[in-house]
Amino acid sequence: MAKPIIFTVDDDLDVLQAIARDLRRHYGEHYRVMRASSGAVAFEALQQVVQRGDPVALLLVDQRMPEMSGVEFLEQAIKLVPDVKRALLTAYSDTDAAIRAINEVGLDYYLMKPWDPPEENLYPVIDDLLADWQANFRPPFEGIRVVGDRWNPQSHEIKDFLARNQIPYRWLDVERSEEARTLAGCVTQAKLPLVLFPDGEPLRQPSTAELATRIGLQTTAAKPFYDLVIVGGGPAGLAAAVYGASEGLHTVLIEREAPGGQAGTSSRIENYLGFPVGLSGSDLARRAVSQARRFGVEILTPQSVQSLRTDNDYRLLTLSDGSEISAHAVILALGVSWRRLDTTGLEQFTGAGVYYGAAQTEALACEGEDVYIIGGANSAGQAAMNFAKYAKSVTMLVRGDSLTRSMSQYLIDQIAATDNITVQTHTSVIEAKGGTQLEALVLQNAITGATETVPAQSLFIFIGATPHTDWLEDLVQRDARGYLLTGPDLGSSGVPPHQVWSQERPPFLLETSLPGVFAVGDVRCGSIKRVASGVGEGSICVQFVHQYLGAVR
Ligand SMILES: Cc1cc2nc3c(=O)[nH]c(=O)nc-3n(C[C@H](O)[C@H](O)[C@H](O)COP(=O)(O)OP(=O)(O)OC[C@H]3O[C@@H](n4cnc5c(N)ncnc54)[C@H](O)[C@@H]3O)c2cc1C
Repeated sequence: MAKPIIFTVDDDLDVLQAIARDLRRHYGEHYRVMRASSGAVAFEALQQVVQRGDPVALLLVDQRMPEMSGVEFLEQAIKLVPDVKRALLTAYSDTDAAIRAINEVGLDYYLMKPWDPPEENLYPVIDDLLADWQANFRPPFEGIRVVGDRWNPQSHEIKDFLARNQIPYRWLDVERSEEARTLAGCVTQAKLPLVLFPDGEPLRQPSTAELATRIGLQTTAAKPFYDLVIVGGGPAGLAAAVYGASEGLHTVLIEREAPGGQAGTSSRIENYLGFPVGLSGSDLARRAVSQARRFGVEILTPQSVQSLRTDNDYRLLTLSDGSEISAHAVILALGVSWRRLDTTGLEQFTGAGVYYGAAQTEALACEGEDVYIIGGANSAGQAAMNFAKYAKSVTMLVRGDSLTRSMSQYLIDQIAATDNITVQTHTSVIEAKGGTQLEALVLQNAITGATETVPAQSLFIFIGATPHTDWLEDLVQRDARGYLLTGPDLGSSGVPPHQVWSQERPPFLLETSLPGVFAVGDVRCGSIKRVASGVGEGSICVQFVHQYLGAVR
């Protein structure tokens, strides 16, 4: 932590120099002494200090200054640093102003000039003020601070990006926090969201790519060619990366959002082998990323693959920044993402009260609220359990007659035993309403047809999933819903096998119709949509990659 600051202000430069010298001599080891020759200069410097998050312990200010008196300066300054100790340096004739300031600006002390000898007239007073300040001081948060408005979709995007990339940050909501409003006010032309780093310039409304650069995430490949390129950093892709690199393959993994994939958004995975009390998705992702990096995997994120082409035995991938990397083998671990609900109003409030997934990022912000969840599968159940810890009530809106067909029994039992979760069956959302943010939902009962409008600030949607494989065009065979066909399933799309597969040898179990390009995890047609099965496919696929490389190299 930076040393707390003692800030002294005086327009008489000799006095300023003398007091700063005396303060430094006695307090310099534990405090930083700053000085300014006018209220305006001091105020500007104080704004920068607050923006950096450095603590300010004491303001010691001359009362009689032209343009801005000491009391006027303190009036402004305490809006920025409300917990600071305040002392005025006064001449005998200023005592009335100093006494008035006790009420006006909560003055803690007024000191008479001259203060010689400081051992008698200055240090005892300052010691006492600093001891009092220390007793109530809570060290400031030293990491990244995000200042914004909860209903702003870009605020949500930034929080989600940082959380999913395991970057600690503190969220400061301008609607709820005085500190947030102060920080927003300190930055000229503050455009929210604002991201403040412990040092350096603030970023206003940054894109995730700008944030990634500032944080130091790797987004470009170090080499033009790899043995193995893995597209997608969910459990399947991360497992393939760990096995590939640990077995000596030069491996790069490209991830569009954040390593962890869908699993990374789960609040608690309870059925993954070896973790008897469960683990959070972000914990699983963090462990897997360190394991992959330890074996030398390059992880590019946020970076997405836009297209794939072939050149003899080379597989060439174009990334979203226009760069290209090539490899002999590619594993597509693209997973699936939430299906969008096409209901009136939902699109308008996405990121402003309506969220797809995002249970981890937004849970705390829903403290004391009534939260609605659409979905009846395990992901919705886990989210309900997580929200129940913070929200006043959680209502699960389910189209069917119960959760039993779609949710694991252990979750159904947990939900039934949680007082503030209600499961509303046969119910759909038919409209979302509001101004700049979600304010109400219109619900319909499928049996009676009756509708009701309920006030709602937060709706979380966990329904079905779709693979995003259009960018692969006709290069690899896909089923009607876009899932990738592999091994024995090739040809099941109705296309005659000889038009699908070009080689003499049969395709490997997880190989797509394009030799050397494999598919694993949720994106593969017929896969079991589980963390363990994705991890299993990712790891065994590396064996097929070895066999394939043995033939082409
Ligand atoms: C909330 C939730 C809770 C769950 N709970 C459990 C549970 O308790 N137990 C369990 O077994 N399973 C659970 N699941 C299911 C499990 O998470 C998935 O089966 C698993 O994550 C699939 O892994 P995957 O690697 O195949 O795909 P994903 O996890 O979907 O990862 C795919 C990754 O590929 C990236 N990507 C896609 N296209 C591109 C591209 N063009 N370029 C770069 N990157 C790209 C995506 O950004 C994504 O990160 C849960 C799922 C969710 C959503």
